[in-house]
Amino acid sequence: MRATYMYGAGDVRVETVPDPVLQRPTDAIVRIVRSCICGSDLHPYHNLPASPQGTPMGHEFLGVVEDLGTEVSGLRRGDLVVAPFAYSDNTCDLCREGLHTSCPNGGFWAAGDVGGAQAEAIRVPQAAGTLVKLPVGENSMLLPSLLTLADVYGTGYHAAKQAHVTPRTTVAVIGDGAVGLMAVLSAHRLGAERIILMGRHDVRTKLGIDFGATDVVPERGGEGVEKVRELTGGQGVHAVLEAVGYRDAYETAFGIVRPGGVISRVGVPQYEEAPIGFGSLFGPNITLTGGPAPVRAYIDELLPGVLEGTVEPGRVFDQTIGLEQVPDGYLAMNDRTALKVLIRP
Ligand SMILES: [Zn+2]
Repeated sequence: MRATYMYGAGDVRVETVPDPVLQRPTDAIVRIVRSCICGSDLHPYHNLPASPQGTPMGHEFLGVVEDLGTEVSGLRRGDLVVAPFAYSDNTCDLCREGLHTSCPNGGFWAAGDVGGAQAEAIRVPQAAGTLVKLPVGENSMLLPSLLTLADVYGTGYHAAKQAHVTPRTTVAVIGDGAVGLMAVLSAHRLGAERIILMGRHDVRTKLGIDFGATDVVPERGGEGVEKVRELTGGQGVHAVLEAVGYRDAYETAFGIVRPGGVISRVGVPQYEEAPIGFGSLFGPNITLTGGPAPVRAYIDELLPGVLEGTVEPGRVFDQTIGLEQVPDGYLAMNDRTALKVLIRP
């Protein structure tokens, strides 16, 4: 099959590799119908050290079950399924608590002996717990929106849930990438009436307004903080959903959160140290939360709205490519000429 590997920063190649095969009785083999490139794939695109063997890429996919191990229940060959960006057994204590990303039997795509999703097929460990059957065909118009359940929609939703967003919550979202826009959509879905989107890419912030943002703040740093404080009568917001991952975004977050508020981070932090002391979090009683979203826990909740068409998270995809064009897809996302790139293998 053809599959995407990254050999170092900026070096993405599509190559012919052996087809994946069942290795354990809990595995499935899935033929990939749709995949995509994630904003978080740009981090290794910037800083992955060069290696001769390369790293498989991709962690978001919809596909058709081609083969099943003897211990996989609840699925059949031919089922169209969505996979969360982490696999899990969906039966252990942590999964039952909704923390599938910490499942002791789980793991991430494109790591260890598990391949990536920017490919024609993939081996799925813990298939019964991981894959969710979709009640549509593989030519459905809903596929782009359904694909967002694999990561970005669930991740944006996680940011809003961790921040306990309700109708009376004033929200600020930092970042107008796909996850930031999904955080806007999620906060809106949870009833928030005031949603301030901090971003400066016009096309993206317009989509953010469609998704429910009430204000857009293009300014960054100290100016951005001042603007958000101005918009909130000097108080700041109850909930900051941080969807960037850089330290300046964290600093903006504690600049705009109001006393007693919550900073919920879903942008993968590209820093290990940041202020948590009296002047940042402790003094104003700020809660810091967030982490990798257990998107498997949210699929059942978010799927009906997508099927009914009451939400259209798939609007974040603004470019569609074939598998051979994946290196160009990375370039487009890196140049910000594409918001999120959909792959049809
Ligand atoms: Zn588990």
